[in-house]
Amino acid sequence: LTSRLQPFTSTIFAEITELARRTGAVNLGQGFPDTDGPAGMLQRAQQAIGDGVNQYPPGAGEPELRAAISEHRGDRYGIEHAPEDEILVTVGATEALTASMLALVEPGDEVVLIEPYYDSYPVAVAMAGGVRRTVPLRLGDSGRFELDVPALRAAVGPRTRAVVVNTPHNPTGTVLTDGELGAIAEVCREHDLIAITDEVYEHLTFDGRPHNPLATLPGMAERTLSLSSSGKSFSATGWKIGWVCGPAELVAAVRAAKQFMSFVGGAPFQPAVAHALRAELDWVEQLRKNLQGKRDLLAEGLSQAGFRVLPSEGTYFVCADVRPLGFQDGAQLCRELPERVGVAAIPVQVFCDTPDDTRHLVRFAFCKRDQVLHDAVERLSGLQ
Ligand code: PMP
Ligand code: GLN
Repeated sequence: LTSRLQPFTSTIFAEITELARRTGAVNLGQGFPDTDGPAGMLQRAQQAIGDGVNQYPPGAGEPELRAAISEHRGDRYGIEHAPEDEILVTVGATEALTASMLALVEPGDEVVLIEPYYDSYPVAVAMAGGVRRTVPLRLGDSGRFELDVPALRAAVGPRTRAVVVNTPHNPTGTVLTDGELGAIAEVCREHDLIAITDEVYEHLTFDGRPHNPLATLPGMAERTLSLSSSGKSFSATGWKIGWVCGPAELVAAVRAAKQFMSFVGGAPFQPAVAHALRAELDWVEQLRKNLQGKRDLLAEGLSQAGFRVLPSEGTYFVCADVRPLGFQDGAQLCRELPERVGVAAIPVQVFCDTPDDTRHLVRFAFCKRDQVLHDAVERLSGLQ
């Protein structure tokens, strides 16, 4: 294994999911729903397979899907992307991210990540030979995670090429405020940086909070690659239909990398996702409401079990401080939790270069049936 990949031999999700399987624990670790997406979408995929949509789709993705993505971004956010050359369909947001790095980052270029960061970001930077600089989302006095804007300014230098911005944010559940997005946009404009935004949880915000894409801010459309995916919006994480939208020149660069990574992917799922983007947004709204209720159910249960629960404004996740229960280290607790009480969760520190601020935090996924959440809470109450 190359030295650039040696730090990344196993993923925390695989490790904890395997531990959950071995111990029969309730798995609130890896974020995937345990119920299916909209029936109309599932049926479209089956129909597509029956209709022979089983060979390579076009390199940029099925035109029908690119048109649906363009309409969705236009209707929801007022952003125009030409389906012909400003949208590329990828194998999940994961491929979109890695292809973006390989396409745009020269060896030695620096990429700013906000930490805790999603686990594939540092690996994508490393694959491109880039160097990551991290900026913390820090727990503020408000009890909310806040972007350290002075640290962002300090992290940018002459070799900085890009900033990766994930909102709604995994693992903290933070939705960046207009002020935070404005500060990121200002830094990008001042230093002529590319913004790569991970918006896979764009539909999953709570308590009436909107999702505002960074590309809608002044001067950002021309320098932003906006990534999303059908996995979270339509509860189909295994389909791996993602996309990247942005200016034609940047999208062409990403396409150059993507075509030699996977070439294309998921032919029969593409028309099904096109259908979902056009006709299943009411279903998504219901999903959002259901998830908000599940967040409340789990947050309430965790706090009764003795955790200090942090606010979750979106995503599938809620984080909790384990210190009130007498534990200091979230990673150690997550390795013991399946055997001790039969629940699996993810330590937040594994998503950080400087883990001290988050050592005591554990992430729980609430994208599960209510019965599963009740069961988990009952088991966790045994920790006290
Ligand atoms: N980004 C974030 C923040 C995620 O939580 C995930 C996990 N689903 C992904 C990207 C990966 O998305 P996909 O499955 O579409 O590759
Ligand atoms: N995005 C999912 C999570 O954060 C996991 C995806 C994966 O297993 N790589 O839980």
